[in-house]
Amino acid sequence: MTPRLRRLWPVLLLPMLLNAAESPKLGSTIFTWEGFTAKPTAVGERREVTRLPTATLREFQSHISTLNPTLASHPPHTHPQEELIILREGELDVHINGTNTRVGPGSVFFFASNDPHAVRNAGDKPATYFVFNFTTAVTAEMRGKAPLPADAARLGSAVFPWDKLVATETKVGERRALASLPTATLANFSVHVTTIRAGLAPHAPHRHPDEEIVLVKEGKLDVTVNGVTTRVGPGAVLFLASNDEHGWKNVGETDATYYVIRVKSEATPAVVAQN
Ligand SMILES: [Zn+2]
Ligand SMILES: [Zn+2]
Repeated sequence: MTPRLRRLWPVLLLPMLLNAAESPKLGSTIFTWEGFTAKPTAVGERREVTRLPTATLREFQSHISTLNPTLASHPPHTHPQEELIILREGELDVHINGTNTRVGPGSVFFFASNDPHAVRNAGDKPATYFVFNFTTAVTAEMRGKAPLPADAARLGSAVFPWDKLVATETKVGERRALASLPTATLANFSVHVTTIRAGLAPHAPHRHPDEEIVLVKEGKLDVTVNGVTTRVGPGAVLFLASNDEHGWKNVGETDATYYVIRVKSEATPAVVAQN
């Protein structure tokens, strides 16, 4: 470092430090489908959802991609942060580590840290999918490393075709369990799909330290977060921050079905906050 640079560097560093200190955390948020803005891309469209730290994640990033027929998102790529995709409509070839799996609407796939992956539109209509990226303190340690070897005690890259999911009856409708395991970068990652019959609620409003993301597949819900109720429909994304009280009810005349993603990181508190 030159003497001049040595003198200057605290000044250069200051805005970065301030920025880090001021970086807002994503609180509980309801993103409605109507609230997203579609921007054209080279391969279709993109809708931004969010990109912010949360109470328990270094960063939570989400967007919605639309891929035109025959096109690929990008050549197979790798990154340390783990990624979950939910296909809303269309048909995709999902590429993971050199293997392609063709999936249709409703399917879910998970890309473990540093596994090469890509998707290609295998249908004759646009394909639209929700992307969720999770960054934790462990993610930084995985940068530039080889993917972890397969381990039954950890969720690796996986494809969950909608038509292979098994529905079990519940008191209020149905449940499809996909996974609940630690991953390379998350202390636990749990994904399931819940269906609630018209007029019913899955549970009374509750709270938990782990953060929850909900994507509405179909139906109409009244979502109450910290006492405020919002009506949402298909394509809505809910982010429920650590320990915020949340609940919902199916207020439509048909079934309501939604995906639930629950994430625990090294920063997730062990107990429910008292207030
Ligand atoms: Zn990716
Ligand atoms: Zn919950």
